[in-house]
Amino acid sequence: MPIRAENRDRYPPDWPDISRAIRERAGQRCEECGVKNGRLGGRLRDGTWCDAMPLGEKLLSLEWPAPGEVATCVSPSGAKHQLRVVRIVLTVAHLDHQPENCDPDNLRAWCQRCHNIYDAPMRRAGIEARRREKAADGDLFEHLEQE
Ligand SMILES: [Zn+2]
Repeated sequence: MPIRAENRDRYPPDWPDISRAIRERAGQRCEECGVKNGRLGGRLRDGTWCDAMPLGEKLLSLEWPAPGEVATCVSPSGAKHQLRVVRIVLTVAHLDHQPENCDPDNLRAWCQRCHNIYDAPMRRAGIEARRREKAADGDLFEHLEQE
């Protein structure tokens, strides 16, 4: 999850080390869905991870699809699917959404998808709060214009 600019000061200066330690604690795998950090592949509608297949071989090395491309991916059962490819980037989440609380019990190494699912209700509330703030500014201006 990108850190919002207004929250940057809430992270401790050694956050990069803390974040690295949590990803190592997790064995470089998402602690929710188990996908390995750096993996290239796509997801089925139910969230099942499917590894991307190499496109071919070029000069003795495998050629891989780029993130964003639709390519053939293989599900754990061996079925092939055409999916939009992403690269897994483990991020570290705060269960209580408080960047100051870096207790290891409060931190989880999650892939983008699992982090997003966990943060979605919080993010919706933030968007709603910012919309209300804007609306309140609007009310203020309307009020000033009437005077
Ligand atoms: Zn995950």
